[in-house]
Amino acid sequence: MTTLTNPFEIARETLRLLASRRVPPTPDNYLTLYQEISGTKAVAEPFPEKQLRSLATALPKATPDQMRLSRLLEEAVKGSNWDDYKTHLVEFVGALAVTQKLAWSELISDLLRLWDAKHAGLTAARKRESLEHVLTSSGANPETLYNRLQNLLRSWGQGKGAEPDAGTEATPVSAPTENAVSTPSTAATSDLLPELRQLFAFTLETAIATQLMESPQLSNDAKTLANDIRTASSTEQLQDFLTRLKRFAFKLELLAEDQAELRSSLLNLLRLLVENITELVLDDRWLHGQIDVVRDIIEKPLSQRAIDDAERRLKEVLYKQSQLKASLFEAKEAIKHMLAGFVDQLANFADATSEYHDKIEVCAGKISAANDISELGSVLSEVMQETRAIQINAQRSRDELRSTQKKVEESETRIRELEKELETTSDLVRHDQLTGVLNRRGLEDIFAKEAARAKRHDTLLCVGMLDIDNFKKLNDSLGHDVGDQALIHLANVCRETLRPQDTIARFGGEEFIVLLPETPLEDAAVALTRLQRELTKKFFLNANEKVLITFSAGVTQMQPDDTQATIFKRADEAMYQAKQTGKNRVISNPASNKAGNTKLLTPPSTAHIDLV
Ligand code: GH3
Ligand code: MG
Ligand code: MG
Repeated sequence: MTTLTNPFEIARETLRLLASRRVPPTPDNYLTLYQEISGTKAVAEPFPEKQLRSLATALPKATPDQMRLSRLLEEAVKGSNWDDYKTHLVEFVGALAVTQKLAWSELISDLLRLWDAKHAGLTAARKRESLEHVLTSSGANPETLYNRLQNLLRSWGQGKGAEPDAGTEATPVSAPTENAVSTPSTAATSDLLPELRQLFAFTLETAIATQLMESPQLSNDAKTLANDIRTASSTEQLQDFLTRLKRFAFKLELLAEDQAELRSSLLNLLRLLVENITELVLDDRWLHGQIDVVRDIIEKPLSQRAIDDAERRLKEVLYKQSQLKASLFEAKEAIKHMLAGFVDQLANFADATSEYHDKIEVCAGKISAANDISELGSVLSEVMQETRAIQINAQRSRDELRSTQKKVEESETRIRELEKELETTSDLVRHDQLTGVLNRRGLEDIFAKEAARAKRHDTLLCVGMLDIDNFKKLNDSLGHDVGDQALIHLANVCRETLRPQDTIARFGGEEFIVLLPETPLEDAAVALTRLQRELTKKFFLNANEKVLITFSAGVTQMQPDDTQATIFKRADEAMYQAKQTGKNRVISNPASNKAGNTKLLTPPSTAHIDLV
């Protein structure tokens, strides 16, 4: 067939073929035949923008999902993207089919039925709370909502107030029956109820009532409620109990608010007192240490541990200061005595000199009245005698004056020393003077406290012993003062790295003890290893030169029959082993190893770094 090129001829031929092939004269069929005759390549089908846009516009937009679909379709039209248009439409219709499959009407009627039904241990408030949880946690996804709601209703039907498990598959809600109480899980729940009642009553009676000693009315309410929950047998009694319990809880809340207010007022009062005392005792500088301790407590959040610590420190300081004050008093009394003696002496001297003057006057009278030289001789010897006596007296007075002056000076020096000691006692009693961490005495006290606390609360307590590696070498090469600075640096890094509730103490020389409350052995070893790493990052600088300090450590966990001596010994053995096996490492002495046994554990990841 020859290919026509004239458009008129092609059009005529196309119409002829449409008629002869009996093809309906639609624009598409016309186009297909036209291209066949003209031999032109089929052009891409034009994108039916107008139609598709009008479809997107006509779709309902009542729900978020419908609005989203309309937006997606319009975007696809804008990009002339038929594939996207099709995909969005197919997905939407598919999801619609799933949603339709969900039997919402049945589920809602189940909800209404179970909402009104009574279930043991399940209050209306509890139901509302779990329903709200399901509604808010399901987002806009109807399938999730359906499944969660179904699970919730199932749990109600079984008499449980349990939250629905979001992950479980949907299964039909079992209608609650009168004999639902006999299902195994409900039976288990009712088995637990008596115990729960007893525990609740016990909590009200002991834990709560005893805390309310200062509010006898509320304390009695708690006891009455405890009695009621023990004896309540009908639903009405339980309802009544719940109403009164709510009222009680409300009163407790008010009381807690009152107490919080009281506490804050007391603290303010204490703060005011402390500030005023500070103003008043500007001269009594030795009191400042004690005041600082109290100020320290009230500035931080109150904790039993801090109060215990402050109490211990205050007691010790008060004891030391009372001793010093006694010495100071004695020294001042001694000065008073000396001065009194001196004044007496001076008075005697004055008496003696006035007596002397009187006698000399008498002698002068005798001399002027004398008629011959023999009379003068006896008067002169009297004058000489009196003068010598007064000279001796003056000499003695001068000597005594000098000695008193010396004694006063000595006493004054002693007083100054005592006063200085008094000023510093607040800080020095339980703390190591060089590093500021606890000294051995402070450690003993805090260990006793921590050990008792761990036993009381049944928590774990670990003890670590640290010994600086090759410290003698550091002292020898850089000097003792640099050694001292290195000890201070280590103590500071310990303080910065360990937790606030951990205790650091200088056990002696270059050995430190750390107490790690509420810490399992593995974590304690990890904490000490972290401390080792910190020391490699926070260099100790000596004259701008980096000096690497490392330590070996042993760590162990307190056992029920441990004393301070046995636990420190175990930590020491582990530390010794760390030294023996190359230093700069942490070795754990596990709980089962009593002192004297050997199998010790090395944590896998301890860096080994030699001292420079
Ligand atoms: P090792 O790695 O085996 O622990 O060796 P070391 O040199 O650290 O241990 P050694 O027990 O042989 O020496 C400890 C040194 O610590 C000896 C002592 O002079 C020094 N030392 C103890 N207390 C202080 C102090 O307060 N300041 C200074 N600068 N040095 C101290
Ligand atoms: Mg040592
Ligand atoms: Mg050492």
